[in-house]
Amino acid sequence: MLYITLIYSIKHVLPCNMTDTGIKDITPHIVAAVFALLFLIERLYPLRTRTRTFISRLPVNLALTVAVFVMGSYAVTGTSAWLLEWTQVARFGLLGWASVPTWPGFAAGFLLLDMTFYWWHRANHEAPLLWRFHNVHHIDPDLDVTTSFRFHFVEILYSTAFRAAQVLVIGVSPLTFFVYQTVFTCGTALHHSNLRLPVGAERLLNIFIVTPRMHGIHHSAVRAETNSNYSVVFRWWDALFGTLNLAVPQGAVTIGVPAYLGADDNRLWRVIAMPFTVQRAYWTRPDGGESLSRPGPAGASDPDIIQE
Ligand SMILES: [Zn+2]
Ligand SMILES: [Zn+2]
Repeated sequence: MLYITLIYSIKHVLPCNMTDTGIKDITPHIVAAVFALLFLIERLYPLRTRTRTFISRLPVNLALTVAVFVMGSYAVTGTSAWLLEWTQVARFGLLGWASVPTWPGFAAGFLLLDMTFYWWHRANHEAPLLWRFHNVHHIDPDLDVTTSFRFHFVEILYSTAFRAAQVLVIGVSPLTFFVYQTVFTCGTALHHSNLRLPVGAERLLNIFIVTPRMHGIHHSAVRAETNSNYSVVFRWWDALFGTLNLAVPQGAVTIGVPAYLGADDNRLWRVIAMPFTVQRAYWTRPDGGESLSRPGPAGASDPDIIQE
């Protein structure tokens, strides 16, 4: 049932002009299989201890995910698909103007898509208006694969403008866009999952990509930790732009945003209305207590950290 729902949803998210690539028929199965596999094995090998019952979070995350897929399908993917066709014909964008050959163009396009996503994610934290909406993703009081696509639909709506700018400015080919979209979706599912990978394996993976412990720190209730680790696929952007933080053991991480950790804060209608209401002091606890902070280096010499 989960698998069929995923396949149906993902097929409707893929750009319509990608039907000629030949890969599109297997891609929904890859994404759905990754999601379903993570959904099952994160139960067997959990990384963090849950603070809420799974069933109390599931309807919220499911409803927001459905809205994301609908919005993604009509706004983001529809617009991107139309622009992709036009930029190819007009040879518009950096890669088109520079006449970069196919495979170097694929690599450059892939990297540029991922780097610009880093800045888009960072802007969603640093611009107060954008943070109102992105905060909906962060107030999930636990983190697992069901958090992957839990976003406010308005965030997806305005991200259409960013995605359109990516396509226009970079001038990526439909194949690059399509492959990146697939890797992006699978990577997002992996790094949100509550899967305890052996720390040695995670250190190895984290040389290249964003991993569950790394993104777990991004969902920490400590402000400085939330404002770190913005990368989506490759972890290099955080290293390059000075926002990498791998020195916090997962056992020390409280997931969520302190002002929105109340028992009733994660209810569907509250979450949908939240960006339009008066905002709380995000980093102060509901009881007025001090913001969470970590005294000194968080996990130096802890065997569970990725890197000191
Ligand atoms: Zn974020
Ligand atoms: Zn996240």
